[in-house]
Amino acid sequence: MPTRRTFAASLLAAPAAFAQSPSPRPAGLPKLTITGAKVLTTSGGSNYRWIFLKLLTSEPGLYGIGSASNHYQTHAVIAALQHHLIPWLIGKDASQIEDLWQSSHLRTYWRNGPVNNNVLSALDMALWDIKGKRANMPVFDLLGGKVRDAVPCYDHTGGRDAAEASDNVLKSQASGYRHIRVQFGGYGGGGFIPAGQGSRATGGFSGPAFDEELYVDQVPKMFEQIRAKVGFAPKLCHDVHSHLTGMNAAEFSRRMQPLQMFFVEDVLPPEQLAWYRELRKLSTTPQAVGELFTHPFEYMPFLAERLIDFARCRVSSIGGITPAKKVAVMCEINGCKTAFQEGGENDPINQLAAYHVDMSSPGFGIQEENHFPPFVHELLPGTATLRAGYLYGANTPGLGIDINESLAEKHPLKPIQGGGVYRLDRALDGSVVKP
Ligand code: MG
Repeated sequence: MPTRRTFAASLLAAPAAFAQSPSPRPAGLPKLTITGAKVLTTSGGSNYRWIFLKLLTSEPGLYGIGSASNHYQTHAVIAALQHHLIPWLIGKDASQIEDLWQSSHLRTYWRNGPVNNNVLSALDMALWDIKGKRANMPVFDLLGGKVRDAVPCYDHTGGRDAAEASDNVLKSQASGYRHIRVQFGGYGGGGFIPAGQGSRATGGFSGPAFDEELYVDQVPKMFEQIRAKVGFAPKLCHDVHSHLTGMNAAEFSRRMQPLQMFFVEDVLPPEQLAWYRELRKLSTTPQAVGELFTHPFEYMPFLAERLIDFARCRVSSIGGITPAKKVAVMCEINGCKTAFQEGGENDPINQLAAYHVDMSSPGFGIQEENHFPPFVHELLPGTATLRAGYLYGANTPGLGIDINESLAEKHPLKPIQGGGVYRLDRALDGSVVKP
């Protein structure tokens, strides 16, 4: 039994004991400086408008790549990278991801917004890629290690009517998907008055016209027919694409409740999120929200009050892996889930950034599928593969993907006709419907 005196003496002796330790704490890796950066753009051999940032470092051969793709503001992002980010970035310490994210976020004083966030995203993903390569680990290992074997994805399908959609759901299920999103004639499909029909203003809009009440009436009936045909095993989703307002969104959710949806997405536009407080009282249909969000803070009230079930942001639109991981943690804490957005115009680097967050996050719910033609796998070696409803990354150090720069140069961006606008639906009187 040590006396107080001998115990005190042993404390005094402690520094000497540490000094003689046979395995001292490693001194860490040498400082890593960002020495150069390149903006790489490509059509991907198709009509993509992909923008990538390649960061070079003071360690020979060590570089990272990140996604800044923006289909609608492509050249604004390229200019922001070339003229504003890169001159500021050269010479900075590549190991300080969080500090570079924070200082780059505040660097523009007016922060957030999709162009700024695409710039941040490219920087952030490239820094995680560098750190992973340096550590000889996939990025998900740096985020805490994998908590699942691969990333479940939901398929995209649909049809012109319930019969065609049901057949396509069964095909998707047979190919291995458990989660299937069903649309009728595209995003916001259903609820359209055919071109030239209905009561219209003389000489005005004559195209297919969206009608909220028609949508609320038609779409649940189509899902009833689909459920009658395919049963309740497939986990079905549907994207309303912000086309409804107020109590129509609540009524739609209420009518979808017996159909046991995995989720309905964006029943309301981002300008009208307060309605979720009312909607929640009227229906248990799970709600996926936030495709157009640009900062994790936007989720805070909705996650803290449990007003939504799935956080739906695109990783590159919210500023990269660093903020996406924070969204995933907020989801976990509040009992909600992630459902990171993809979209057909998105690129394989952003898809992998989402993959690494998904792989390491207990707050994960589902990932949107995106698949690429064989040429893209050649252009970007390491592009993730989709097999039977699961996404698999290469799981090599870093993000696990590279760019064949000479091949990208042979497939430059194509001229953007009309400035690159998102297609808008219109109502019978010619007014635009929120997308
Ligand atoms: Mg959507």
